[in-house]
Amino acid sequence: MKVGIPRALFYYYYFPFWKTFFESLGQEVVLSGPTNKKILKDGIKTTVDDACLPVKVFHGHVVELCKKTDVIFIPRIVSIEPGKYICPKFLGLPDMVKNNINGLPLIIDSELNLYKSKQNIFKHIFEIGQFFQKSKLQTFLAYCKARKKHKKYVEKIKKFGMISSVLERKDQNDIEKCDIEKSKYKKIMLLGHPYNIFDHYINMNLIKKLQKNKIELITFEMVQENDIIKGSKKLNKQLFWTLGENILGSAYYYLDNKMVDGVIHVAAFGCGPDSLVGELLEKRIAKEYKLPFLYINLDEQSGEAGFNTRLEAFLDILEGRNNFEGNISSHG
Ligand code: SF4
Repeated sequence: MKVGIPRALFYYYYFPFWKTFFESLGQEVVLSGPTNKKILKDGIKTTVDDACLPVKVFHGHVVELCKKTDVIFIPRIVSIEPGKYICPKFLGLPDMVKNNINGLPLIIDSELNLYKSKQNIFKHIFEIGQFFQKSKLQTFLAYCKARKKHKKYVEKIKKFGMISSVLERKDQNDIEKCDIEKSKYKKIMLLGHPYNIFDHYINMNLIKKLQKNKIELITFEMVQENDIIKGSKKLNKQLFWTLGENILGSAYYYLDNKMVDGVIHVAAFGCGPDSLVGELLEKRIAKEYKLPFLYINLDEQSGEAGFNTRLEAFLDILEGRNNFEGNISSHG
């Protein structure tokens, strides 16, 4: 069977896992193409107006896969670690897609809920195995292979950097040789959900633009888990959401240890968790760390000219602080 995986949302975390898992079960994986104008347009057309931008983009990718696949994988993700939830939009995603898009192939919408225990992963994977009429043993072996791949993927990101430089390698089996550009100039913490940071179309090639200016980038996936935990102790109250807490924890750790020269927060229009995280970040950076900070809010109408101007202004501030340290606004 051809199993479609939309190149959106949790693709950025779990694609190596999912690909290995489905292929080990004897299925063919079809990935939608990188986001483009048509995918975005289809996503906007098929979703409700007040959905966040990444959910709209996800719908566009599903539309692209409809005619190319026998089944599309849209897991109902509730929680990816004990004691914490994921944004509720993920929970309702399969229902939203089924309601919004006509002509869908079969959908695998097995629930992933690790809130109570990590062991619940087996319920999730055995349900998928059953869909393909595989035995528990076959499914378990495919899971072990996929888990190994995922572990390697996470290690590479922590060791070498950016998700995109690992995921976008032509040869997915060869993630050993990622050639990551290392620091040349200033170090910026680039914060936000990976589906905003690494979707080059919706963020207008932000990463390339920054790297062209010889900026070294740190994203929260590159921060060691222990450091994120240390950083998140600065929060007055634990957040409900895994990704929000990882973003803030890694930011506070790097800021406290004076390991970055500035921060960019990329948020999506219509995202509740992003607005809370953005508010907490901006206030603390202005009050305690006094570093250049740029808030970018992505939406389907974002114009590139205005975006470039704000980015250039931020880079000028960063550069200016070299010469006039302490006498410059922290806002880009
Ligand atoms: S966290 Fe925000 S951007 Fe992500 S799915 Fe939820 S509402 Fe959308």
